Amino acid sequence: MNRKEEISHKLEDVRAKIANVAEHEVCLIAVTKTFPISDVQILHELGVTDFGENRDTEGLEKSAVVPGTWHFQGQIQSNKLKSITSWANVIHSLDDPRHFEIIEKVAPHPLQIFLQVSLDGADHRGGAGLEDIYALAAMVDKSATHTLAGLMSVPPLGVDPNLAFAQLAVIHTDFMGQFPEARSLSAGMSGDYEIAISHGATHVRVGSSILGSR
Ligand SMILES: *Cc1c(COP(=O)(O)O)cnc(C)c1O
Repeated sequence: MNRKEEISHKLEDVRAKIANVAEHEVCLIAVTKTFPISDVQILHELGVTDFGENRDTEGLEKSAVVPGTWHFQGQIQSNKLKSITSWANVIHSLDDPRHFEIIEKVAPHPLQIFLQVSLDGADHRGGAGLEDIYALAAMVDKSATHTLAGLMSVPPLGVDPNLAFAQLAVIHTDFMGQFPEARSLSAGMSGDYEIAISHGATHVRVGSSILGSR
């Protein structure tokens, strides 16, 4: 099997599993971090339109070559925001109001923004606590340029994803009470995207199930 056949098989498998569980529209984001541009080109040829990256330099390089909607989902560093916002269309990992102030100043085009929520308060996987999410959301919601898309989360290590995504669904439903337009929910990776979708995820970020182990 050549690389294109290999990726095509894995991609079809993921698409079929999504179709099997989804009762609503789901955006599949192919997470291409650490994989070469040639793989991203193959995905594009196979009809993938959404790509996810964790690092500025990789996203900048790949998005210059492959057209699509580019998602940034990594930890944000202030000094990288000018570059990140030059190539990303969507940011999944905003968790700090200071970063949004910078985005407002430097972003050359409108962005869709997800707020990353921490489900356990520990921030080693990123994310703001619930006590901070609403103020951050109000800030993004007020922006004349950018759009509050919804919430994103990565389940805490060692926690049953069924419980984590059920908890996230409740948080998101409450959140939409105040921010009714923020209907998107970015949750689920290779190991748990079907579970996330069954709990309402609208965006899944899948890397290794499509491209193999890193
Ligand atoms: C790497 C990464 C993914 C994709 O992980 P896989 O296990 O390869 O599917 C999704 N979301 C975030 C935030 C990541 O860092």
